[in-house]
Amino acid sequence: MRLFNLTGKVALVTGASGGLGQGMAIGLAEAGAKIIAVSSSESVQTVEAIRALGGQAELIAADLSNEDILEDVVNRALGIYGKIDILVNNAGIIRRTPAADHARQDWHDVIDLNLNSAFFLSQLVGRHMIEQGSGKIINIASMLTYQGGINVPGYTASKHAIAGVTKALANEWAGKGIQINAIAPGYMTTNNTAPILKDEKRTQSITERIPAGRWGTPEDLKGPVVFLASSASDYMNGHVVCVDGGWMAR
Ligand code: NAD
Repeated sequence: MRLFNLTGKVALVTGASGGLGQGMAIGLAEAGAKIIAVSSSESVQTVEAIRALGGQAELIAADLSNEDILEDVVNRALGIYGKIDILVNNAGIIRRTPAADHARQDWHDVIDLNLNSAFFLSQLVGRHMIEQGSGKIINIASMLTYQGGINVPGYTASKHAIAGVTKALANEWAGKGIQINAIAPGYMTTNNTAPILKDEKRTQSITERIPAGRWGTPEDLKGPVVFLASSASDYMNGHVVCVDGGWMAR
């Protein structure tokens, strides 16, 4: 288990107040990492869950779609435990309207958070990791990194682009001891997919297409994120790992 042990490491997880970010933050804490949970929500649920497990965690409440505050967020995070070893760019939103009616604001809101905040946070934390000579960055992609989706053109654009950013940064920083990879979750039960889950017929047709025969849960990302955050994946660079119950294999 030495390869997967994160004791002494510090992980900054964005969008950690619930859903997949919460599952990954708890998984990283269970592997020994100290967690800085960054989220637009003031909810302390994740931080309290980690402390209840005997782990260490702190909350930073911030709207990451505002580029101007990102440097301050990273500086505050560095001030908590003195370093950042792992960055999980998970915060994300989705806006569902047909392409012909897709509002400009919806397009920009989605790109600002899902793509711009992930790149600019990686840049700010990456500078610190370059100096440190090590680091792990894990971006959260999607099945819409590969497929077009329905009624979510901005989201699809952001998730295609995040794979490109993952590879671009991996190329530049692999030689500096930093590994950048992504996880592409399949259909997972969270707030993000709640509107789909209300549509019984669509939910059933999606479930039938998943070889595992079920939707994923935040717990399903614990193992993959610990693997990509640990030295077990030190020779993996620029990869997008699907955690999808077999959706992409179908
Ligand atoms: P969620 O809505 O449950 O969680 C989103 C998180 O992001 C929350 O913690 C929220 O507080 C935070 N957030 C939202 N806006 C923010 C902002 N402006 N600044 C800072 N934080 C903000 O959704 P989720 O399903 O857990 O999504 C997490 C990530 O996983 C997203 O990037 C999403 O695109 C991706 N994803 C989800 C699924 C799925 O099926 N649920 C599938 C593929 C990819």
